[in-house]
Amino acid sequence: MAKQLKCADVDPKMRGCSFVAEGRDEAEVMKKAADHAKSAHGMAVIPPDVERKVRAAIRDTGGSKDIAGRDVKLGTSKLG
Ligand SMILES: [Zn+2]
Repeated sequence: MAKQLKCADVDPKMRGCSFVAEGRDEAEVMKKAADHAKSAHGMAVIPPDVERKVRAAIRDTGGSKDIAGRDVKLGTSKLG
């Protein structure tokens, strides 16, 4: 299942960052998040405690269910 990570969910310090990493699996999301952390936040290395927060903040995308238990199709509309 596809995964998604919002940078702002990782750490309160990242509030205001609108970066979202998406990938087919956790490894791909982690890789994109690491690239982003390096280029946007100056983190040459992801410390283990931050990596734990990143993994905890990764969410599944697609296949979501609403409160009635029905499958929710994610919109394909593009913002902007
Ligand atoms: Zn960020």
